[in-house]
Amino acid sequence: MSEPVTQKYEFKAEIKQLLDILVHSLYTSREIFLRELISNSSDALDKLRFESNRGTTILDNDLPSEIKITFDEKKLLLTVSDTGIGMTKEDLITNIGTIAKSGSSEFLKQLSDNKDDANNIIGKFGVGFYSVFMVAKEVIIKTKSYKADSPAVEWRSDGLGDYQIFELNEDIKRGTTIEIFLKDDAKEFAERYRIESIIKKHSNFISFPIYLDSEKINTVAALWREPKSSITKEQYQEFYKFLSYDSEEPMDTIHVAVDAPIQFNSLLFIPKKNFDFFGFNREDYGLDLYVRRVLIQHKNKDLLPEYLGFVKGVVDSEDLPLNISRETLQENVIFHKISTSVTSQVLSYLMRKAKDEPEKYAEYWKEHGKLFKLGYSDFTNMEKYSQLLRFNSSFNEDASGLTSFEEYVSRMKEDQKEIYYHFGPSRSAVSVNPHIEIFKKKGIEVLYLYDPLDEFVMSSIRKFKDYDLKSVEQIEMKKLEKMKDVESEKPELEELSKQDNLQFSSLLENMKKILGDRVVDVKESQRLKDSPACLINNDEMMTSSMQKILRMTSKDTTPVKKTLEINKDHKLVRNMIKVFKANPEDEFINDTVEQLFETAQLLDGDLVDTHTLVARVNKMLEQSSEWYTSVKDIK
Ligand code: ADP
Repeated sequence: MSEPVTQKYEFKAEIKQLLDILVHSLYTSREIFLRELISNSSDALDKLRFESNRGTTILDNDLPSEIKITFDEKKLLLTVSDTGIGMTKEDLITNIGTIAKSGSSEFLKQLSDNKDDANNIIGKFGVGFYSVFMVAKEVIIKTKSYKADSPAVEWRSDGLGDYQIFELNEDIKRGTTIEIFLKDDAKEFAERYRIESIIKKHSNFISFPIYLDSEKINTVAALWREPKSSITKEQYQEFYKFLSYDSEEPMDTIHVAVDAPIQFNSLLFIPKKNFDFFGFNREDYGLDLYVRRVLIQHKNKDLLPEYLGFVKGVVDSEDLPLNISRETLQENVIFHKISTSVTSQVLSYLMRKAKDEPEKYAEYWKEHGKLFKLGYSDFTNMEKYSQLLRFNSSFNEDASGLTSFEEYVSRMKEDQKEIYYHFGPSRSAVSVNPHIEIFKKKGIEVLYLYDPLDEFVMSSIRKFKDYDLKSVEQIEMKKLEKMKDVESEKPELEELSKQDNLQFSSLLENMKKILGDRVVDVKESQRLKDSPACLINNDEMMTSSMQKILRMTSKDTTPVKKTLEINKDHKLVRNMIKVFKANPEDEFINDTVEQLFETAQLLDGDLVDTHTLVARVNKMLEQSSEWYTSVKDIK
């Protein structure tokens, strides 16, 4: 017999980086390496079943589907083997030599940026095969593929810089065996009690038998198929933790069995915390799809729409064919009906929660609302979706309060026909915005939006029941003016005389001249109460913050032209009229107009040049200090 040919390969850079973190900074979550290996074995067995179901010829077809774990306390050796699809030499190089997961580089970055929290991050995410090097000083993989004529191969590495591969001379059966030579400080993983408890904790619901020596360890399977009454809260929690890798219990458990028209069981969970570590971790969602207790697809992304991606769980149906391929799932009518039904189960559950336990619903909203809001294009479920939305509102006590459209409508003024909202960076910014003043004056509620996404939500749903959703920038003043004022404690200024009214009109004309083509127009305002001036967006279709978002994408920074509105009943404006009457050319008029315009721009986030504004403020402060010292007779 010829000597086996050994080939040496370097690890790819990102694997070296992952190994470095795994080996040097993690101590408390080390046990999850076993979860990762068992999960790989289970995947390999699933893949085999899948091949077998579609009629592929399989080597050693009579082998039972199982996972075996053995240990040797003296040799510090732990072995995990399975009768799954196995790997060819090429498989080994491509699968074990690279990190295929999407977002893995982002994951690595998170890990190295948050070393302190690494245990937590590792625990929540599948880190895969390489986690074995947290506990191993050497690992040997012996594997034989299900494909008839591919030789058995061995892979070995100490996890430092390279690995070796060679063909095995001895013949082994189909599947994969992983021998783990434990580090001295990891000898606990060669102790029976410790291994057994790790399997029970992390892998109890694996659907293939796991034997420790010859004893079957995992006992519970297909919990979702059991009648609800026979399942304890602990069992649900255990299953959830197994499924999600979450260390906390779920916020909600939704277990449903449907018999007609299509049979399926679903067991779904809403996590207490959102899993969104990496911005929108878009790939990491989906439900596990089973057909007659057989896993067809892990993290299927079509059973629930993306905006319900925070839901974890499984769906199992009798009515789908076992040999259905993942590619044709989407076109399958039964699958489609199941997904429609699962989606409406989740939405109905949330509706009940919102109604019966509003405080708990608020907790849900704070965790998952951001993702949920992305559902604005789910037209089929628009009604439920709208009812489940929450916003902060002028009628809430502070920024943490939440209001639904339903509540808003129940508090509406008698002749109010529209729901109003305004967008801004924070509650304090929105609530002092001049646009809001007329609403305060009339006692009309305004929804405050702080998340740019909210604007998309509003402009795509457009209506709640019969009420149009309107940005406060786009209101028709006439509608509001008709409504009664709430009592105001501030004494109103006297009406202007006819002559002063004329002066005011020429002052407005003068302002228009000063501002030139920087504004569309200068007009008397009906909406202002406490502010002297504000800028009004003339675009009926789009709010100014929406315009800003769109312009940002086209890198256009020139501000949109707006109309400047002036509050005739503001003390400052009254004084301007007096000065204007005495001398229309007075420098004070010019400075004040510029100042009013620029502060209004500042409030809208549109001011480009802050220097002239600051210089002018300083000049005017200097003047008013003169006035102050003289009035107070200070020498
Ligand atoms: P992941 O399982 O997330 O894909 P891993 O690093 O754990 O990442 O594994 C990489 C790949 O190696 C797997 O996708 C699979 O193709 C292969 N693999 C790992 N373990 C086994 C096994 N026991 N049997 C067959 N293939 C395996």
